[in-house]
Amino acid sequence: MNRRDFLAGLGVGAVGAAGVSAFTMGGGEQATVSYRGASTKSNASWDWKLVMSWPLHFPVSGEAVDHLVAEVARMTGGRLKIKVFGAGELVGGLGVFDAVSQGSVEMGHSASYYWAGKLPSVQFFCAVPFGMVAQEQNGWFYNADGLDLWREIYAKHNLTVFPAGNTGTQMGGWFRKEIRSVDDFQGLKMRIPGLGGKVVAAVGGTVVLLAVSEIFPALERGVIDAAEWVGPYQDRRVGFYQAAKYYYYPGWHEPATSSELMINLQAWESLPQDIQTVVDNAAYKASLWSLSEYQAKNAEALEDLVNNHGVLLRRFPDDLLRRLREASQQVVEEVAESDADSRRVYDSFLKFRQQSRHWRSISEEAYTAAENLPA
Ligand code: CA
Repeated sequence: MNRRDFLAGLGVGAVGAAGVSAFTMGGGEQATVSYRGASTKSNASWDWKLVMSWPLHFPVSGEAVDHLVAEVARMTGGRLKIKVFGAGELVGGLGVFDAVSQGSVEMGHSASYYWAGKLPSVQFFCAVPFGMVAQEQNGWFYNADGLDLWREIYAKHNLTVFPAGNTGTQMGGWFRKEIRSVDDFQGLKMRIPGLGGKVVAAVGGTVVLLAVSEIFPALERGVIDAAEWVGPYQDRRVGFYQAAKYYYYPGWHEPATSSELMINLQAWESLPQDIQTVVDNAAYKASLWSLSEYQAKNAEALEDLVNNHGVLLRRFPDDLLRRLREASQQVVEEVAESDADSRRVYDSFLKFRQQSRHWRSISEEAYTAAENLPA
């Protein structure tokens, strides 16, 4: 839904007087945020709860929420106070969507691929095998119709949503043995969740579902042959290099993974517009902060893993990547066929991605190629 449609949908001409303002970036028609607040200004205060799918203060995703909460408190002069609960404190990590949707808490920080079971369409807003990189996702969310579609779908579940974090391109994972061809994936036991897992299964691997705490011991004991987690910074913390030496790239299954700040719709609409604007801006900042943090920390951690921990960095062979790309397309097409929303979101995703890929190839990719030209 673009700005015009949204305003038309309200049936109002006197937009300002109706308590609606729209925020447009870079002169774009879209990327609007609708502030349908209770009033324009209020001295009332709010005490809210935010539940997460990760532990309290968890590096990057939990820290991003810590920053967001502190910023909101500062920018509202303490009028909106948010108390944060880690996974399992009030609700389990996978109970975030229902808790916020039902209004037992006002806010949640999670990743939309966790809701694939009930809402297949929203996987496109999180991570897609052979999908978009972070900068492209942001272009689709903020400056095209990605976020509008996301909000339309969440509104049916009594929620609004903001992108609020991004890992950037992940790594392909840790392997106990070297991977030389597609054949080496036959029967390979790998911990890889979600759509990526479906793709690995489609090319002959065996996907093993493990709780986060079980991944490292399973890899160390050889119960599994490979595991993916996030990227150098997060992976070093877990110590995967002690269980498997081969560290593969690229993370074809998660070229970018976006996290979300979801807010109960009634709670959101009870906020005055100035506080809504603060929350919107704090979510933008969380998104940029996370991506920047990963950029800085991954670069340092990768160097450390290779130089000080004997990690053998390897690129997946081309024939395997081609096979994974082909299978990814099939798996993602199947998601698009789940329901009308999935089709609509996928069509929008695909249109944006196709255009964007051409631009990426002659901008960042061409620049990188130029940097790497032999002297
Ligand atoms: Ca991952």
